[in-house]
Amino acid sequence: MDNKLMLMIPGPTPVPEPVLLAMAKHPIGHRSGEFSQIMAEVTAGLKWLHQTQHDVLVLASSGTGAMEAGMINFLSAGDRVLVGSNGKFGDRWAKVAQAYGLQVDTITAEWGKALDPEEFRTRLDADTSRSIKAVVVTHSETSTGVLNDLKTISGYVRSHGALMLVDAVTSLGAAHVPMDEWGLDMVASGSQKGFMLPPGLGFVAVSAKAWEAYKTATLPKFYLDLGKYKKAADQNSNPFTPPVTLFYGLQVALSMMQTEGLEAIVARHHRQMTATRAAMRALNLPLFAADAAASPAITAVAPAGVDAEKIRSVMKKRYDILLAGGQDHLKGQIFRVGHLGFVGDRDILTAVGSLEATLKELGFDGFTPGAGISAAAEVLAA
Ligand SMILES: *Cc1c(COP(=O)(O)O)cnc(C)c1O
Repeated sequence: MDNKLMLMIPGPTPVPEPVLLAMAKHPIGHRSGEFSQIMAEVTAGLKWLHQTQHDVLVLASSGTGAMEAGMINFLSAGDRVLVGSNGKFGDRWAKVAQAYGLQVDTITAEWGKALDPEEFRTRLDADTSRSIKAVVVTHSETSTGVLNDLKTISGYVRSHGALMLVDAVTSLGAAHVPMDEWGLDMVASGSQKGFMLPPGLGFVAVSAKAWEAYKTATLPKFYLDLGKYKKAADQNSNPFTPPVTLFYGLQVALSMMQTEGLEAIVARHHRQMTATRAAMRALNLPLFAADAAASPAITAVAPAGVDAEKIRSVMKKRYDILLAGGQDHLKGQIFRVGHLGFVGDRDILTAVGSLEATLKELGFDGFTPGAGISAAAEVLAA
């Protein structure tokens, strides 16, 4: 059967019909009063989502573009940055920093484990000359399904004085990311993750402290110069042509989120994470991340005795459910279930039931039929 594809990957994520319909309208002029109105409304919505009084700027870019902008606008060549790396995305920010000639120190953890905040404290305490200008942390490490302890790390960074730059691409819209309360200086994200939108928009939130650093930062920038975006945003405008129709979608998606409420959104992601993890346990499929470090956006599973790629292939072919695979050295070792954005409890039950049938088809009989569904239902019905 065609047209039943269900995305259970951590981006792009499913898009609700009201958002799709909003985007089906004709684009309007981006210098019009009508568009300024939309800019004003989405800016207010974005501040609500980030729990901030500071600026949230919108770029036509993927999440990587937002992160790159959020790093290069506040730093100068030769500056020291400390990058937390326990997966594909943490690694990527170290590479971006290197590409711009920054001096990169890393704090690493094995893939599947969380970064240890105490290592940040030790490293920052040792930096008595305050040569570390910024610390970069990926809140939810999508490649492994690990949620790093951003709150504790940012506390240490704040006492040191460096800028706290955060990849919140798969935590924003799934977990609380209270920018002002936690003292985050830059929070980057992308539309195709927790926002219930197609790919194409990058979001960069900037603190007053980061704008201070911007004044003396000399890394080259033009399209990604956030000063231009701020100047325009202060007039409810854009420095360059924005993806007008995506803004229509953003307006509707943010209003849907506000109607659901932040607490309810966070609770829904937590419930679906818990249900998914309970189901995997009941199916005797080992979880890749520990409970204490589990991301509410994505569950990584390391199925001993069955090829993860075979599971993905049957899930796709027979049940039209797209799961994510392992990246780099984890290819074939893990599969990842996305439960981010516009995902309902029914989607979790469907995915778990289809997974049971898939395992059966692949000859894996290490579980009691129905055990996964039953475990998930127990969590969802509680
Ligand atoms: C998806 C993602 C990104 C951004 O990836 P793009 O493909 O550039 O949008 C960055 N960080 C994390 C943790 C992600 O999941």
